[in-house]
Amino acid sequence: MAEILVLGGGIIGCALAEELARRGRRVTLVERGGIGLEASTAAAGILSAQMDVPAPGPFLEFCQEARRMYPSWIRRLERSTGLRLGLHRDGIVYLAMTRAEETRMAHRMRWQRRHGLRVERWSGAAVRRREPAVDGPVRAGFFFPDESQVDNQALMRALVVACRRAGVRVLEHTTARRILVRRGTVQGVVTSRGRLQAPVVVNALGSWAGLRALGPVRVPVEPARGQMLAFAGPPRLFRHVVMAERAYVVQRRDGRLLVGSTVERAGFEKALTLEGMHGILDGLRRFSSALQQCTFLDAWAGLRPYSRTGRPLLGPTRVRGLYLAAGHFRHGILLAPATAQRLAGMICLRNHVRGGTRPHAGTELVESEQQSIDITYCQ
Ligand SMILES: Cc1cc2nc3c(=O)[nH]c(=O)nc-3n(C[C@H](O)[C@H](O)[C@H](O)COP(=O)(O)OP(=O)(O)OC[C@H]3O[C@@H](n4cnc5c(N)ncnc54)[C@H](O)[C@@H]3O)c2cc1C
Repeated sequence: MAEILVLGGGIIGCALAEELARRGRRVTLVERGGIGLEASTAAAGILSAQMDVPAPGPFLEFCQEARRMYPSWIRRLERSTGLRLGLHRDGIVYLAMTRAEETRMAHRMRWQRRHGLRVERWSGAAVRRREPAVDGPVRAGFFFPDESQVDNQALMRALVVACRRAGVRVLEHTTARRILVRRGTVQGVVTSRGRLQAPVVVNALGSWAGLRALGPVRVPVEPARGQMLAFAGPPRLFRHVVMAERAYVVQRRDGRLLVGSTVERAGFEKALTLEGMHGILDGLRRFSSALQQCTFLDAWAGLRPYSRTGRPLLGPTRVRGLYLAAGHFRHGILLAPATAQRLAGMICLRNHVRGGTRPHAGTELVESEQQSIDITYCQ
């Protein structure tokens, strides 16, 4: 019998399962498809711990904590798996195209500097000098030198290897159907391949964490579709991650350019739309004509787990032994190591005695009622 069942093999479930196994726990990871094939590989891999954080507070602190952890987390995963994960501190330059955007970002720059974070303001001419692929009418650039990017697809491949090496039992193509609860205490999970018993279950089901049929556990998470396009271009065409109001571009070291993205409420539909792809390309063309030198490679869409509270949902529920690690929305790649560390700490420390640790301040505790939880799946 596993000590801990982690449901969902995205970056959050995998990072947590590996961390718990490293702490000596017997962990089973339950994934209905292949590991990491949903939002975690659809993502762009931008590690933005300040550029798109609109206000100071616990969420900023949590992002900063994740950013501090990233280099050593990646080094450890690279050492243990022998894989290269493409972590690069390229910085992000945000392009203000209108006066309103410039004012908004100047305000962000001021409060972030007061918090000791580095932000530079570049003139339009300085943007074109430092990022020659930008040739549109840019009013100002705001440069965040401490932001990074990671190859999230390579990271997911490494995480599953690391999970197995740490002793996690990885069950792919296994759908969790119902979480079993008796007298207010979790008992395990009914899956498509039978019943799994465990005193601790973690819901890390990404966009699927909050399905209505989860029943009494109110998990306010829903999918927010993001469409992405990939092109092949000359290496270092873009030197930084470049973002603007309606589009962004991230270039990997092999020349691949990832161009994104939409944020849409389209239910669990992952289809690409002409409107979505056109909107992204139009947003990009406003600041750069460089895609003319590139060839189209691929396009896809993924579902971000959007939490209606605006924060990740991370912590225990009122059902003893049942935890949540969901709702990371646009920051799940960045927040994975900090989420794993925090939640593994809570689980190991609480040891399922009532009145244990409180959830981390940058996150939200979701209360559930003490009864069976049925899950239905929108495939
Ligand atoms: C286009 C796009 C761009 C993004 N860019 C960035 C970025 O640059 N930086 C960043 O930090 N974040 C980014 N994100 C957000 C990030 O991808 C997510 O926050 C993160 O991947 C969420 O991870 P997760 O493990 O919670 O969810 P997922 O990766 O979706 O994993 C959930 C898993 O649960 C499984 N599952 C579902 N139901 C069941 C079931 N019943 N039984 C078993 N398994 C089940 C699914 O198959 C899936 O593998 C982006 C997202 C998108 C879509």
